Amino acid sequence: MIIIMKENATAGEIDHVIAAVRDLGYKPHPIYGKDRTVVAAVGDERGKYRIANLESMPGVDSVVPILKPYKLAGRETHREPSLVTVRSVPIGGPEIVVMAGPCSVESREQILECARIVKEQGCQFLRGGAFKPRTSPYAFQGLAEEGLQLLAEARAATGLAVVTELMDAHNLPLVEKYTDIIQIGARNMQNYYLLSAVGETRKPVLLKRGLASTIQEWLMSAEYILSRGNYCVILCERGIRTFETETRNTLDLSAVPVVKKLSHLPIIVDPSHGTGHWDLVPPMAAAAIAAGADGLMIEVHPHPEEAASDGPQSLTEKSFAALMQEVRRFVDAAGRGQPAGPR
Ligand code: PEP
Ligand code: MN
Repeated sequence: MIIIMKENATAGEIDHVIAAVRDLGYKPHPIYGKDRTVVAAVGDERGKYRIANLESMPGVDSVVPILKPYKLAGRETHREPSLVTVRSVPIGGPEIVVMAGPCSVESREQILECARIVKEQGCQFLRGGAFKPRTSPYAFQGLAEEGLQLLAEARAATGLAVVTELMDAHNLPLVEKYTDIIQIGARNMQNYYLLSAVGETRKPVLLKRGLASTIQEWLMSAEYILSRGNYCVILCERGIRTFETETRNTLDLSAVPVVKKLSHLPIIVDPSHGTGHWDLVPPMAAAAIAAGADGLMIEVHPHPEEAASDGPQSLTEKSFAALMQEVRRFVDAAGRGQPAGPR
């Protein structure tokens, strides 16, 4: 249920409503909008008639049900788009963000070189996995803590914010210590225990869409994080499994306007995993901007032929520079602000 406060409701009246919601055994999530405050009361559906009684409290305008199952991720409770600000870079606002870097952190030299390339192109975020979800147990699994330390070193050298994947809740304190954004990968999108664990932190979370997940399931996974009080969630479309084999996945760009319609959360697009081939990445990156994405996640490697993972979909310094040139034209055309960098 949503308790919609009157425009002139006082802070005291809002606090009383929040307390009343809690007393009824519901979790109150106040959302302070431009004109008025709403308090989402999330909990057991069966007692909702008791929440409806709160309409008689001072300062309350109306109490209405939240129809969608994703109570906090949906637009019903939060009409305005959410901004997630990371190291003073807003995600979900007019400016496009670009998160780029290797699939895996492989060595000091490699990650520092990647960071230089990414920085020179005006991107704001360095990505790189220290814990890698690999199909084969014999494949490179990532450098673990050493990889996290190298990411932190690259951040110190460049000022780029860091995005890295967390695969297992027992590594949360470790990953949280080094990263600016915790990535939850496609394979873990429905790991509800892990989602709840990152929901308990206050670190921004990048939630990738599952390989075979519907948009509703994806928003329900975001709901797990939000319902624990972590409101800093960024969605990432990275392609889904279809019958098509020419691309590694099928990049579902229609998810962008659908998510924008259903949810207030920022959404970025990863055309690297979405296509699986470096030459398909630039056109799909441009298309993602045209579709209304708030940013991009791109795999870049100084020597893709030597990459420990995802070499075929990684861009070189040269091809990444060309992508950024091309993307800037679409960013301009979309009337969005862009990352600083060579034009
Ligand atoms: C990655 O970002 O390198 C990754 C493993 O992504 P996904 O979870 O989308 O496959
Ligand atoms: Mn990868």
